[in-house]
Amino acid sequence: MRVCSVCALNEDHPGVTLDADGVCSLCRLNLVGDLLENFSYTQQVHDAFTRSGPNPDGPYDCLFMYSGGKDSTYMLDKFVNEYGKRVLAYTFDVPFESTHAADNIALARKKIPATFVVDSDDDNIKTVMREVFNRPVAKPGKYLDEKLPCVSCRTFFVIRAILYAFRHRIPYIALCADPQQILTMESDTREVVRGFYRTFGAKLTDTVFQGEAEQVLFAEEERLPRIVFPFVAMRYAYDPDRIVADLKAKGLYDSSPLETHCTLFPLLNYYSFAHWNCMFYKLNAASQRRAVQRNKHYDRSTFSITFPRAADLPAIEERMKHVVLDIAEGRGEPEKQQHELVDLFQELGATADAARFVAGGFLGMRTLAAELGIAL
Ligand SMILES: [Zn+2]
Repeated sequence: MRVCSVCALNEDHPGVTLDADGVCSLCRLNLVGDLLENFSYTQQVHDAFTRSGPNPDGPYDCLFMYSGGKDSTYMLDKFVNEYGKRVLAYTFDVPFESTHAADNIALARKKIPATFVVDSDDDNIKTVMREVFNRPVAKPGKYLDEKLPCVSCRTFFVIRAILYAFRHRIPYIALCADPQQILTMESDTREVVRGFYRTFGAKLTDTVFQGEAEQVLFAEEERLPRIVFPFVAMRYAYDPDRIVADLKAKGLYDSSPLETHCTLFPLLNYYSFAHWNCMFYKLNAASQRRAVQRNKHYDRSTFSITFPRAADLPAIEERMKHVVLDIAEGRGEPEKQQHELVDLFQELGATADAARFVAGGFLGMRTLAAELGIAL
């Protein structure tokens, strides 16, 4: 197996190719045309939003997708208290998320004068996750295919938000992806919906959105809400550590970024190892490695996920793969697996407590899969 000499991605990583010199297409920036096009569109929408006056069709200028995480709390505060926008803060209650996000949302409600709504749809989001985990994967795969369950969950609730904004004639949807995520996210509302139809087919899409998604496909362009990525304007200045410090100073943030996490994380790793032979965060690890290779003095991450510089990521990934697949198959001794996982997460920079917490989730993987109707 060849790996990229710059970022260490495998040659069979979905959507990536290695050239004769052993450098991958991401490192060669073969995608640069697409990426620049995406950036210029999102920049245009961002500029239009910044210049726009009050929405003539209703009481809100934008629907702000509010997760309670550090990025969206930081921007929600700015939108309301600095830019003076009339904001509907929309939270989709993802049934797989830890309760730490809920604590931050309660904090924000007290300090930020916006209208807060919480939406949920446990049955349908679980239907989508069951479908994505249980169906076979198509090889050789496309870019981000190893993250398909995660991407599908996010797309599901972005579409819920699109439908909400569409129904209530809210012209903009703010979505706080970090600068690296923006590059890989569809920013055109209609395309987001069309992509879901392409991935899951008309039958499932119409079932989980009660036929409403179809209206977006055929609506007039000016009736469709447009997606704004607030972080596009600060793409090189994005600094997660500064954001957390700023929020803590304002009393808007309690937990550390590691604590807000998804209970599906073990299953997401199972999925990426079983189908694509890599850990879930492989692309994040590769992009950090790429940045370090380009700038030896690189000391600050522009991404939400960072890894300790000294961590031996290929070795960690190999060990994680064995323990994840063993647990999924019901092999091995849980006590040893717990020990191995705690060790691995600490090497990845987690505190002892956080590592034990995450390891516990991995050991419960089979139970969680059974509850959700996912076959391992
Ligand atoms: Zn590479």
